[in-house]
Amino acid sequence: APRVGVLAVQGDTREHLAALERCGARVSTVRRPGELDEVDALVLPGGESTTIDRLVRAFDLAEPLRERLAGGMPALGSCAGMILLADRIEGPAAGQRTLGGIDMTVRRNAFGRQVDSFECDLDVVGVEGGPVHAVFIRAPRAVEVGPGVEVLARVPGATAGPGQGDTIVAVRQGPLLATAFHPELSGDDRVHRLLVRSAEATVASTQAPHDGR
Ligand code: GLN
Repeated sequence: APRVGVLAVQGDTREHLAALERCGARVSTVRRPGELDEVDALVLPGGESTTIDRLVRAFDLAEPLRERLAGGMPALGSCAGMILLADRIEGPAAGQRTLGGIDMTVRRNAFGRQVDSFECDLDVVGVEGGPVHAVFIRAPRAVEVGPGVEVLARVPGATAGPGQGDTIVAVRQGPLLATAFHPELSGDDRVHRLLVRSAEATVASTQAPHDGR
């Protein structure tokens, strides 16, 4: 089984570890570069993206993370993690950086005060078996995506709140997946399973040359 890490500098790690275990992955937390080296794939959890940004830099994890992400490591970013995987933040607060990897611009806290947090059922491309129950907590949205980015889910304008059109809340670019919602909070592991499957495929393809076949 692939080893899937959860970035554990800040934010909700426990539910992700449990979901990944239910998907058959070996799991570990990642706080140091050496721990990052051990994992085949990584979850970047929700939390506060400015804090996570500051801590990954303080822990000397920012560069190693950028390298792994650029090098094809499968990853799933949820909420603040989606922000970290974005190449660009709309009007970034002073000094906030992202790790990047997905050619998109995200808007933080994109659903306004009236709908700070909300839940809805969403069809997600690539997830079989019906809609995913999506929990949004001060969630971002993608306001612009590049041509290499596949949109996996949108929240309809009526649900997204007053003055909002349809909004992009899940995307994929190669092995990088991002959701504005928290798939770890609904007890539905299908989004995590996408990551674990992607990790299995990566492990299989990197091991192939050593199989003597
Ligand atoms: N609002 C947070 C941010 O901008 C994200 C919230 C979350 O991860 N639940 O970083």
